[in-house]
Amino acid sequence: MAVIASLAVPAGAGAAPAPGPGSDPSPPGRLPVATGHGGAVSTVDPDASRTALDVLKHGGNAMDAAVAAAATLGVTEPYVAAIGGGGYITYYDAKKRRVHAFDGRETAPKAMRAGSFVDPATGKAMPFEEAVTSGLSVGVPGTLAQWDLALGRFGTRDLGALLKPAIRVAEKGFVVDAEFRAQTVENEARFRDIVPTRELFLPGGKPPEVGSVFRNPDLARTYRELAERGPEWMYEGGLGREVARTVAKPPVDPAAKRKVRPGLLKPSDLAAYRALPKEPTHVAYRGLDVYGEPPSSSGGSTVGEALNILGNFRLDPKDPVTALHYYLEASKLAYADRGAYVGDPAQVDVPLDELLSPGFARERACLIRPDRAAAAPVAPGTPDGRYGPCVPPGTQTRALAYEGPQTTHLVVADKWGDVAAYNVTLEQFGGSALTVPGRGFLLNNELTDFTLQPPAPGAPSDPNLPGPRKRPRSSMAPTIVLQDGRPRLAAGTPGGSTIITTVLQILVNRIDLGMDLPHALAAPRATQRNTPQVFAEPAFIDAFGKGLAARGHLLAPFPGPPKATIGAATALEFLGPGLVQAVAEPVRRGGGSAMVVNPAR
Ligand code: GLU
Repeated sequence: MAVIASLAVPAGAGAAPAPGPGSDPSPPGRLPVATGHGGAVSTVDPDASRTALDVLKHGGNAMDAAVAAAATLGVTEPYVAAIGGGGYITYYDAKKRRVHAFDGRETAPKAMRAGSFVDPATGKAMPFEEAVTSGLSVGVPGTLAQWDLALGRFGTRDLGALLKPAIRVAEKGFVVDAEFRAQTVENEARFRDIVPTRELFLPGGKPPEVGSVFRNPDLARTYRELAERGPEWMYEGGLGREVARTVAKPPVDPAAKRKVRPGLLKPSDLAAYRALPKEPTHVAYRGLDVYGEPPSSSGGSTVGEALNILGNFRLDPKDPVTALHYYLEASKLAYADRGAYVGDPAQVDVPLDELLSPGFARERACLIRPDRAAAAPVAPGTPDGRYGPCVPPGTQTRALAYEGPQTTHLVVADKWGDVAAYNVTLEQFGGSALTVPGRGFLLNNELTDFTLQPPAPGAPSDPNLPGPRKRPRSSMAPTIVLQDGRPRLAAGTPGGSTIITTVLQILVNRIDLGMDLPHALAAPRATQRNTPQVFAEPAFIDAFGKGLAARGHLLAPFPGPPKATIGAATALEFLGPGLVQAVAEPVRRGGGSAMVVNPAR
């Protein structure tokens, strides 16, 4: 397959980053674009990127570097990345020229039921905030099992060696920036109520000041012990028992007024946990091969279905309003199908092949009018293998459940051409707010990604209800794009259910709309998740609001958090043999950090 015209490297690739949705410059030490040879990395944080770069420089591969960077993010981004959470890794193995998926999703305890989040007094799901800050929302952490599995398959370093840089940062400390302080302030009230969380993250009783040094000696000790004992310490040993105790009896300040419900997680749930190797999702798009995460994430299936739908239209960079209209309509339809059909495939029958089939996409595409947005929510389609001419929309719809907004994503490429795209998460900023006493890390609240309220009698069933040992549906979409069987692009982002639309928009910007990768990331974003309104960043509304409103799209500012911006993406692109451009956000969330081993001159 020849290089398609629109993916030719645009003039200026590798130059200074594009303007983002705001005007703040990147803080020093954070470069959003780096181009060169010998390996590349992009994360949200300079310490984590430097960690990955050092691993690459010393002969480690992309998987080694991804794990080392994630461990450092556990120190510097403790509210989103921790061994108390989970995530997904999509990995391209250059030797065998194959893409792999590793599912390290947190999993519900055996005692969990569809109605576990329902308050018996009201018959309704408990308030979302109450579910978040609770033991009930804590799933079995998947991160350590996933590292073990992924390093076992592709790593060349042992975990102990990869934890060393993170231990150093935890001991020496890192300089608090505005973003870290803001995330602490956002969580201050609930952190204050949980004793070990307060002691760790509110030193001296207050959120740490910008410019101060934050140390985490507890986490340094935990990582050291982990290096000696291995991941079994979590799943079969003392650390796991401490996690289960924290969940069963949350360490709440007796003076606090907050109700913090205990959870159901037992040491036997930890012992039963497995990270899972999986076949990635695959769709062909404009001559490229796009690989992503299969269920339990809806990332790969929903990005894939939307791309398949878009494949039925010509997206012309000279007519961005029409192109964006198709982008929004495709994602609206794909979201309807995500809600109806995607859940943990170990427990529900997910028609993945049909959701990703060109026939189904054609049937969905023919519902899109070029001149008019469909009223949302739209009904899901019928991915049953029988695709005829266009069918009229059905009637059963489903509102979008709230899904928390934040995790982190990193990408690494090594000199051999291996690529890792990795989302690591606690679900919300600060997860459940439960710190394991003396251990320096927070536990996730991933189980609030389930649909907390069971459907009313007669309503369509929901594939994402809580259940014993079930994985809640994710939106995480670490994505790798191959061209002629070799890696071309990798991208991903945090952002809860906006993850899917951000990844999709970056791909459309890069592949169809003629932007280079820095511009594709920096461009203002909009998200259509089968809701009546399209939520967008202010700069998107300024640029395209009028044109899209004329086609019936109702645009509204994205409510945040944080700060009305959508996502915090990282990505990379192979520009030529061995030449990689790593890209991070120039502005959103304070800007990210891209680095390469040998910068191109
Ligand atoms: N819990 C989210 C998901 O699995 C990820 C966290 C986020 O980025 O919001 O989709």
